[in-house]
Amino acid sequence: MTVKVKWHKVVWFPMHIPKHSFIAWMAILNRLPTADRLIQMGIGVDDKCRLCSVEAETRNHIFFECSYSKAAWGIITRLCNVDRTVGSWDEELSWAISRFKGKTFLVFILRIAWCAYVYCIWEERNHRQFRGNSRDVDNIVNCIKEIVRMKSVRIAIKSSVVNRDICLAWGISSS
Ligand SMILES: [Zn+2]
Repeated sequence: MTVKVKWHKVVWFPMHIPKHSFIAWMAILNRLPTADRLIQMGIGVDDKCRLCSVEAETRNHIFFECSYSKAAWGIITRLCNVDRTVGSWDEELSWAISRFKGKTFLVFILRIAWCAYVYCIWEERNHRQFRGNSRDVDNIVNCIKEIVRMKSVRIAIKSSVVNRDICLAWGISSS
């Protein structure tokens, strides 16, 4: 039985990147092994956020409430011509649910970017935890831009005129 949930289209959409959508889906269900969940399970880990080393690590914190992730997501949304302040996890998910509708080029970019963002933030957290290396905000934004560029080039061929500003902002070239 398939239960159609409100956030379904934020994560699963045509041309989605499976590993990104999977992590985004796990994040929405709050099933990722964040420090708060591990501690609840009785696993002794450092409770501090690996991205800012200040606040406690929870799903809500690392994705949209941490200074590091807020800065990264703010840059991504501005690249999409979206002028708004980054909110809490709940606010960002609600915004995505209401905004990511239709089949426009911008909505496609937003969907790819949202899932790539969640994936890259989680990957960054894990690199810091397990490999001891870290990327700064500009670096992670560039990784997300590269993903969006690679995924959207073919679509941009059809709609680059209409979406010239967005293509310029993201460095998407149809030639
Ligand atoms: Zn943090």
